[in-house]
This record gives sequence, C-alpha cells and structure tokens, in this order.
Amino acid sequence: MAGQVEFGWRLSGTGWATCRIADASGEAKYEVSYCTDALADLLNGLGGLYRPKPVERFSFDLEPAEIRWVLRGIGTGLEVSIYRFPDMLVSFDAPDGDGTLSWRSTLSRSRLVHAVVEAAQAVLQEHGEAGYKAKWGRFPFPTASLQDLRRLHLRVDGCDQPHDLLAS
Ligand SMILES: [Zn+2]
Repeated sequence: MAGQVEFGWRLSGTGWATCRIADASGEAKYEVSYCTDALADLLNGLGGLYRPKPVERFSFDLEPAEIRWVLRGIGTGLEVSIYRFPDMLVSFDAPDGDGTLSWRSTLSRSRLVHAVVEAAQAVLQEHGEAGYKAKWGRFPFPTASLQDLRRLHLRVDGCDQPHDLLAS
C-alpha cells in the first residue's frame, strides 16, 4: 500500500474538465462534463471516508458514458475502483459489476486526499470562484467541500508532505 498517487483536475473547455489519476501501475484519464457537480462529488466522497466503515459511490458524466467511483476505506487505506458504463442514462442504477473496470488501486487515504486537495486548490488559484463558475457552467466552485476535506486531512491523516498550496 501507500504508493505514490498523482491526481489532476483541469478545466479543459466550457463545461468540461480533464480528470487524471495515476499510480505506479497505470493511469486513467477522463473528460468530465458539467452535467453533474463532479468536483464537489469527488471532494464530498473523499470526506465521507473519514467515517467508520466507509463506502462511497459517485459518478462522473462523460456524455454519454458513466464513470463510477467506488471508494472503500480500509483503516487508513483506501481501495479505489473506477467502473465505466457506456450510457449513464441507462446505468445509473446498475450494479457495479455490470460495468467495465477502468482503474483500480489500493492507496493510502492520506496520499490520495492530499493530491486531490492540492489539485482542487490549484484550480481555485488559477480561475478564482467567478472564473470557475463561468467556465464550468452549472455549479459554483465547491469551496466549502474543499475546506471540509482539507480540515479532515490536516487533522486526521498525519500527513508529512508540505502544504504550501493549502495555506489560505
Ligand atoms: Zn497532506
């Protein structure tokens, strides 16, 4: 466990974001649409992992494909499984096993949350709240979700990585 993980979130066009996640064994990259509040769902899902016996599910809309994240907390570790379904309108209530496994890794929760918080903070620094809303479209930047997750990470994870970008 506890290998390195990289995470990126970049507003790639009006109503689109490029999400990238990678560990030592491989990477996954998705073009995510503004039809759902995807960045907020990711931040809130990760925040849910600090509860006992956590399992979190949320989906990104790739228009039309569904990318479903399933996060299972195991102590301070985390199993991430990402499933792909061809059409989100059809698969929203389908069992995970009906999808194709797109990416899976067992990670340190601290490492992944650190990487996601940094990526979200970088998006906010680049665009600002107004710029984010203008580019992403339907939803505002999830400031409260980011603050909540950052607070949990700093308080609970005992992270030894620098947090320069996280100073507010
Ligand atoms: Zn950290």
